[in-house]
Amino acid sequence: MTVRTVLAPNPGPYTGPGTNTYVVVDDGEAVIIDPGPTIPEHELAIVDALGDDRPVAVVVTHTHPDHAPLANPLATRLGVPALGHAPGPEFRPDLRLADGDVVRFGGRELVAVHTPGHTADHLCFLLGDRLFTGDHIMEGSTVVIDDAAAYLRSLERVRDLGVEILEPGHGRRMVDAGRVVDEYLAHRRLRERQLLDAVARGARSIGELVEEVYPDVPPSLRPAATHQVGVQLRKLADEGLVVLGDEPLGPDTSVRPR
Ligand SMILES: [Zn+2]
Repeated sequence: MTVRTVLAPNPGPYTGPGTNTYVVVDDGEAVIIDPGPTIPEHELAIVDALGDDRPVAVVVTHTHPDHAPLANPLATRLGVPALGHAPGPEFRPDLRLADGDVVRFGGRELVAVHTPGHTADHLCFLLGDRLFTGDHIMEGSTVVIDDAAAYLRSLERVRDLGVEILEPGHGRRMVDAGRVVDEYLAHRRLRERQLLDAVARGARSIGELVEEVYPDVPPSLRPAATHQVGVQLRKLADEGLVVLGDEPLGPDTSVRPR
């Protein structure tokens, strides 16, 4: 089996060096994971990476614009199905993958693992001792999440898979999967503790908490930090640890100790 990485030319504050598109080949058959954005030169690079191997499917980890929009056009071009957990803004799956569904290619099985948290529709893909993690786990940074409780459960799920290698949607391959997942779990727990401590010390809005917990965040990532704090507070409020205002989550949303 070989794993070929094709880096999309879309670097940025949320994408690191760009999106990793994976062309995974076994015995002359290939699966393409996360074709990325619709950039013609990237589509050509993926077709190039396929070489003479026969594609069987295009799969997506989730429907964010840096992962999925090229999936339908590429699948049509190659004459194979586009597979994902659910439709999204620029993605319509030909077949929907649920947790545990299998994509066969060559002598291998790629297994869908539903990992909500970054988004509700997020899948990782298990291949032997290797996991393609999309945006569930990235190399070199933590990830933006939509649901903190689901995200923690999905991290624990990945930890329990016991894989050795992580192939992320952004950044380089990680060969010490257990340590990386433990660090992600520890980071989330540290953030929760920091937020609870800051509320206990008197912070009373999401904006104030961002100042305390993300003091060095660059302006370009400030909306993401605000979103993160709100999402984490919603989990802490659900657990009865803080009281969160009813207004839509933003810098002015109020928070107080329970
Ligand atoms: Zn994403």
